[in-house]
Amino acid sequence: MATEQPVKPSIRFAKNFIVEQHLDAVRWPQTCCSCGQPAEVYDNLQLKEKFKNYGEIRVQVTGIPYCQQCAKRSRTGKLVNRAVYVAAFIIGIPLAVLLILAASRSSSTRFIFCGLIIVLSLLVGYGLAWLLIKLPVKLILRKRLVEPVDAWIIEDDAKSDGTKGVSVVISIPNKRYAASFAELNGVSQ
Ligand SMILES: [Zn+2]
Repeated sequence: MATEQPVKPSIRFAKNFIVEQHLDAVRWPQTCCSCGQPAEVYDNLQLKEKFKNYGEIRVQVTGIPYCQQCAKRSRTGKLVNRAVYVAAFIIGIPLAVLLILAASRSSSTRFIFCGLIIVLSLLVGYGLAWLLIKLPVKLILRKRLVEPVDAWIIEDDAKSDGTKGVSVVISIPNKRYAASFAELNGVSQ
């Protein structure tokens, strides 16, 4: 009788790690994902997203290892990233409203691409928020700001086995840690 193989996660690499299946089986190298010191604490990310085709999806990415110091610094990183995200909307939405109003008043505009205007405004908002918040904080805190491992859910039409569904994207900012993560999980980068 064949011995049972442990379940392996199905992960492909495209800029970030895209976990197509068996998120629970993802393994994390047991060093701090930011500085490479021995792992001391573990972070979990609770993800929730609503999709038209798949309904509400809730998953957890568990066991992301940090050392004590980087764990603390990554919390600052998360707060700063959230502030940038919120500011992007605070800047982007009024900008989109103004642009749509301006475009609808001009008689030469037959079609208004509202969706496109909103996306572009949010991108401008994100850029400005990054320059006004993230950049100064990065310059002031330097190494005391740790970019956290992040994850989010996507609708995925490009799964390796040809099926469609949702996948979980894992972003690992530290290149060296990302390389050992790839090796441990058998992902070709
Ligand atoms: Zn560390």
